[in-house]
Amino acid sequence: MTQTKLRFCRLCDIIDSIPGDISEHADRLYSLLDEDERASEALIKERLSVCDKCEKNLNGTCLECGCYCIIRSFAVSRHCPIRKW
Ligand code: SF4
Repeated sequence: MTQTKLRFCRLCDIIDSIPGDISEHADRLYSLLDEDERASEALIKERLSVCDKCEKNLNGTCLECGCYCIIRSFAVSRHCPIRKW
């Protein structure tokens, strides 16, 4: 039997507990990151412009990793799972 290693995302855990549209809570989620982990506004915009044109983007959710594109873009250490950014 193959064992699947689960990955844990602190933000996803928080997001799962929030009802409604994720974009309404984006500022608060961004503020939960350590300051040195926060991507700049310019970097976030650059990343999301790539996601906007990506075939893996389904209504703001990345079909490669299952993350919300906007949330993944917030953390400077995160990357696109297929290295588009
Ligand atoms: S994170 Fe990468 S794969 Fe996912 S939607 Fe954005 S550009 Fe596409």
